[in-house]
Amino acid sequence: MEINLLTLCYLLGSVSFIVGLKMLSHPDTARKGNWVAAAGMAIAILGTIFLYSKDGVKLENYGWIFGGLAVGTIAGTLAAKKVKMTSMPEMVSLFNGMGGACAALISIIEFQHLTHPMLVQDNMYAAAGSLDGATLLIIFAGLIIGTISFAGSMIAWGKLNGSVKDLAFNGQQIANNILLLAIVGVATYLVYNISITNYYWFYFITAAAVLYGVLFVLPIGGADMPVVISLLNSFTGVAAACGGFLYDNQVMLTGGILVGAAGTLLTILMCKAMNRSLMNVLLGSFGASSKGEQQAITGSYKEISITDAAVCMSYASKVMIVPGYGLAVAQAQHICHELEQLLEEKGVEVKYAIHPVAGRMPGHMNVLLAEADVNYDSLLEMEDANNEFKSTDVVLILGANDVVNPAAKTDPASPIYGMPILEVEQAKTVIVNKRSMKPGYAGIENALFFQPKTSMLFGDAKAALQKLVAEIKAI
Ligand code: NDP
Repeated sequence: MEINLLTLCYLLGSVSFIVGLKMLSHPDTARKGNWVAAAGMAIAILGTIFLYSKDGVKLENYGWIFGGLAVGTIAGTLAAKKVKMTSMPEMVSLFNGMGGACAALISIIEFQHLTHPMLVQDNMYAAAGSLDGATLLIIFAGLIIGTISFAGSMIAWGKLNGSVKDLAFNGQQIANNILLLAIVGVATYLVYNISITNYYWFYFITAAAVLYGVLFVLPIGGADMPVVISLLNSFTGVAAACGGFLYDNQVMLTGGILVGAAGTLLTILMCKAMNRSLMNVLLGSFGASSKGEQQAITGSYKEISITDAAVCMSYASKVMIVPGYGLAVAQAQHICHELEQLLEEKGVEVKYAIHPVAGRMPGHMNVLLAEADVNYDSLLEMEDANNEFKSTDVVLILGANDVVNPAAKTDPASPIYGMPILEVEQAKTVIVNKRSMKPGYAGIENALFFQPKTSMLFGDAKAALQKLVAEIKAI
């Protein structure tokens, strides 16, 4: 009966993950979807703690279990409450790394459980088949994938908060691939030939996987970061699914597979958005594909006053707002929504053009604007926005840079060459709000700012929008 109740808990958990994920696909239901999946996870965890038993013996070490739960709950809640919207990708990377580490620890513990009898008795014990190949295969897969995900996520976390710099050396891709082949080769050998004389290679594989995770992410910079984070996320899912196989635990398997599949799909979508092939990502060392000297930018830029910008927008019939990372930094989403409503009251059609990698994480702008109650129907995806720029009078760029940089189309030497961009220069007038002429995330200049139809509106996005709103109200 208890087992059946536990199975029911796992079923409820699995269904809630799927329903929660489905609800996450729309801003109106996303918050509830998160709660549904979290409730399912709570049912699965509590069910395991109180209902699981083996040979009639239940779990006993409640002190450790609830101690760990308390530490994790407090740390997770505080981190999630304190984190700024602009630091979300760092937190995603950190939490993802923790997931990878957990999956790797499961493999380490279970390997020790399995090899312990071999060590205390003799080599014959292993030969007698106590270590079956299928279990070892899952243990090694969980170890390698989980460890790479952990180490890679830690480097990604450091890169996003600026404490780790890009590092690439000649032949790094070859070295990475040799290391990966060695890890897989030694693991495969051990799966079939583990014995008392070679079992310690397991720990060398762990160390080599840490090294691979570090080397894999270190050279990756700028525009390719979102792809890597999403790829590592899918690794963690697959590693967790290995744990599900190992413990014959359905909910862990479902959760792991969902994360693995969702991460893989997101990786593919991000690859498309950045014009990278998945193979290019998997082989590592990308993002440094510049060929020759980047095109020099000549000419000068011109500024626009708040009053002129306000007049220009008030008398337009269609305005397209392009939000970027700077909007998130300034926390200007609410005042931006106010500007939109004000213009609409004046009969101006206002829409938002959303680039898939605007900001610092997939969906960053959608989340930010949803928080300010911007109508989801006003958000245009890149292709739709690009079709509408021709009929747009004014494009207002708020703290976006790389995602509107024409070098992605015109300069083969540019690190972002090939990345699809918002083709804002097709509109009649372009107003760019940022604080200075400094480059964006990819660290490159933007020729858009020097084009005749572009005017710069310098200042913090929130302050500039507040002034714009006041000025438009006065018109
Ligand atoms: P960018 O980083 O290219 O540009 C942001 C601009 O905002 C900067 O040029 C900065 O200029 C300006 N800015 C900063 N603070 C403020 C402020 N308070 N007020 C007004 N402006 C401000 O951002 P984009 O959104 O255009 O592009 C995103 C980039 O990030 C891409 O290269 C993308 O690949 C990368 N990326 C995306 C991820 C994702 O998943 N979406 C994840 C990781 C990276 P100034 O200093 O002069 O104000």
